[in-house]
Amino acid sequence: MSEQFEQACSACRYFRAVDALTGACHRFPPIFAGESSPKETHHWRFPIVSLHAWCGEFRAQTEG
Ligand code: SF4
Repeated sequence: MSEQFEQACSACRYFRAVDALTGACHRFPPIFAGESSPKETHHWRFPIVSLHAWCGEFRAQTEG
């Protein structure tokens, strides 16, 4: 297994699957996503990320 795969969002403790290819990153609170919907709860979203993406905030699921 390559290091890049080990650090993919799909292996990160902050990742929550949305569908087969994407998930939501819960590293930080929701961010403003626009006011196109009349529902306030739709204005704030966790970032959607690919299973295979990664960032510098990665933490393995097994880390404390
Ligand atoms: S974007 Fe970063 S913190 Fe969020 S799930 Fe992916 S690797 Fe983890």
